[in-house]
Amino acid sequence: MELRSSIESVKGIGEKTAKLFNKLHIYTVEDLIKAYPRDYLSYEEPRSLAKAPVGIRIALYLEIKTYVNTEKRGRYIITSLTAGDSVNTIKLVWFNSPFLRNVLKRGDRYVFVGTIKKKNNFLVMEMPEYYPKDKYKGMMTTMQPVYSLTSGLTNNSFQRAIRETGSLIRNITDPLPEKVRQEYKLMRLDEALFNMHFPQNEEVLKDAVRRLAFDEFAGFLLEVRKLREENSALSNTHPLSEAALIRADAFIASLPFSLTNAQKNAICDIKNDMSSDYVMNRLVQGDVGSGKTIIAVTALYMTALSGYQGVLMVPTEVLAQQHFKDIDGMLRGQGIRTALLTGSLSVKEKRVIYEKLKAGEIDILIGTHAVIQDKVEIKNLGLVVTDEQHRFGVRQREKLSEKGQDPHVLIMSATPIPRTLAIILYADLDISVIDELPASRKRVMNCVVDTSYRDTAYKFILKEIRAGHQAYIICPMVDSSEAVDAENVIDYSEELKAYYRDNARIEYLHGKMKDEEKNQILARFMNREIDILVSTTVIEVGINNQNATVMMIENAERFGLAQLHQLRGRVGRGSDSSYCIFINAKETEDSVKRLKVLENSNDGFYIANEDMKQRGPGDFFGIRQSGDMIFKVADIYNHADILRKAQDAVLKYGDELGLVQDNETVITTL
Ligand code: ADP
Ligand code: MG
Repeated sequence: MELRSSIESVKGIGEKTAKLFNKLHIYTVEDLIKAYPRDYLSYEEPRSLAKAPVGIRIALYLEIKTYVNTEKRGRYIITSLTAGDSVNTIKLVWFNSPFLRNVLKRGDRYVFVGTIKKKNNFLVMEMPEYYPKDKYKGMMTTMQPVYSLTSGLTNNSFQRAIRETGSLIRNITDPLPEKVRQEYKLMRLDEALFNMHFPQNEEVLKDAVRRLAFDEFAGFLLEVRKLREENSALSNTHPLSEAALIRADAFIASLPFSLTNAQKNAICDIKNDMSSDYVMNRLVQGDVGSGKTIIAVTALYMTALSGYQGVLMVPTEVLAQQHFKDIDGMLRGQGIRTALLTGSLSVKEKRVIYEKLKAGEIDILIGTHAVIQDKVEIKNLGLVVTDEQHRFGVRQREKLSEKGQDPHVLIMSATPIPRTLAIILYADLDISVIDELPASRKRVMNCVVDTSYRDTAYKFILKEIRAGHQAYIICPMVDSSEAVDAENVIDYSEELKAYYRDNARIEYLHGKMKDEEKNQILARFMNREIDILVSTTVIEVGINNQNATVMMIENAERFGLAQLHQLRGRVGRGSDSSYCIFINAKETEDSVKRLKVLENSNDGFYIANEDMKQRGPGDFFGIRQSGDMIFKVADIYNHADILRKAQDAVLKYGDELGLVQDNETVITTL
């Protein structure tokens, strides 16, 4: 077994299990080792049933009071029993686990771990884990890794597979020289990898995360440095024409709104860059709704008028379609020929577009990563724009630039990175910041509440639906297979359908669905055929449904502030009043304080700064922020101090660090 061997070389993984891992994009032993847990569970002291709280994950030490009952209901086989202590009882229920009949016997005692729900005044725990008391005692002293799973693959078998790679991990040689590790107080790589999976305690885990974050940052910064060296002095072979500059002003004057000063400044920067002696490499950074699209459109328009072609690359198909419709609508009247290129076009449709691009008969091409495929040849590519940039790796950007002879590059990002960090992360780019929202924008109204407010929220959503509007509800998890105590999209939408019955059309969306399915759901949501979209954070980028006025976020305490802010940006995009309801399911002093920041501010930069201040470095327990850049472990908000260290190390040691970035694979699509 080596790092590069197929996972079938891991003891215990056969062909069938390997296929399941493949579904999670785990093909090699190295992939497996780098499939870090999504969370860690600590097992706490069992509580007494009389005092057990509803709705959060707890442990109970109980005696089984009845025989195990098994019945078939619809697609499910339901296994249930009653357990209790000397005073109280609770019903325990499992789905599709008939074998439990032979495991759990009347009179036996186990520690059951799960979440209590109240159903018609009865206490019920669904799918509890069960452990003999001695085993449980042992578990209480360690942290249990929780992995992202797929149906058929259990957390246990995942853990077992990782344990099998233990000796291999121990033999990994560390690329970082010892002196560097000492200088920056970094854990050895093999220790870090092992402790990511099986940490003894939070301290150790923190150090493991910091080490891996350092590698990611330093690798990234080395890459950025290389890009900067390659690009900084390229001469401008696509200067804007005088006529283009003038017609751009007329175009802007013809818009139904006047630009904010920040937008004007950004456009001015772009005009200067594209008319200068050197190629443009610019980042436009602006909060959601700050109006970045029109800036991209103006740049593309000027490019077309100067006789070159331009490309706009976006991370999702839905976003591509949306932009295509908007841009075509704005520019068709000006004689500009636009086209849409996405993965779902037929071969024939694609061929037509390829030919036109080669002949220079398309001025502006809009698309997903389909635009960087080898078949795409563009006659005279003058400008490449990428929207929501953090979803694309540095390499993808490069690949797109290679489609032409040193085209200008413009990157739009909604990730509100504090300026001090942006300068480090985007060292190869000039930056324009849009720090002003259009005056017409209505402030989203916020409330942070606990789960008892749900019913009120549902009634409120119904009122909005009756007024013709739509709503989003966000859950952190996809389905109940993930042993994490948080709402999941699939069960949640079932319950919601039962609640609303015929009063609302409800669908769900998550990242494990096929692209085609996702696109269909989103298209129907855009067409107002769906009233409530229950979704994971896959919808966080770009979706622009101006008719949606409510965003409700379950388990808001599990998300980072910057990510919550990004999610909130999906509403308040039209002229109607909009609302964001944050459900704080686990009210701790800390979660209340953090969510207060969102309640009181709609300013992404302020929120990002607060987030950094409040969480402090190395706070790994928050779910990682969006704007994920391309890092697996590192988080620019949590690990700002490590980012600075990595920068220092790159300046001091450069290639001696022995790190390479493996972001080749990182294109995330909806
Ligand atoms: P984002 O920065 O999130 O990409 P968009 O470019 O999608 O924001 O802009 C959001 C909405 O605001 C669009 O409907 C756009 O037409 C509108 N908009 C952009 N600039 C202005 C402005 N200066 N005044 C009023 N509305 C604007
Ligand atoms: Mg946008």
